[in-house]
Amino acid sequence: MPGPVDYAKIQITPDQDMAAWWNATKEKRFLLPQCAACGLKWWPPAPGCRRCTSLEQSWHQIKGVGEIHSYIVVSQPIAAHMATAVPYVLAIVELPDGTNDDGSKTRIHALLLDDEKDVAIGLPVALAWDDHPSQPYKLPRWRITAKTAPGMWKHPG
Ligand SMILES: [Zn+2]
Repeated sequence: MPGPVDYAKIQITPDQDMAAWWNATKEKRFLLPQCAACGLKWWPPAPGCRRCTSLEQSWHQIKGVGEIHSYIVVSQPIAAHMATAVPYVLAIVELPDGTNDDGSKTRIHALLLDDEKDVAIGLPVALAWDDHPSQPYKLPRWRITAKTAPGMWKHPG
């Protein structure tokens, strides 16, 4: 298991684009931006749809399950609050309920609670949440929910 993340070293100050997202985390809800004009969902939140350029967007709440599309193991922290967590796995997770009308699936970055030895591409994951020690916001973490999956691939090392 990765070491603890020292959230006391970060202060969350949502800007206009992220305020709704961070407020939803207080209720352990993970939102994806969704274009109000064409329906595209994307991550990370940013103003403006990359498909149709509309600036009108809403939020789509995901169920909190996904599949590991890829991952890396971070052994050299680049942020002070992650120094106690190394080594940890940062995954790209594909969200089935983030599927767009063209069949593409929205992918998000996901900080896993699992060790490198337990990670493989294709495994299912579920959303969990960490508390911030002094702010009401929650921070998303993801946990592997099965040891095998059809078509899974694990680095041979
Ligand atoms: Zn759009």
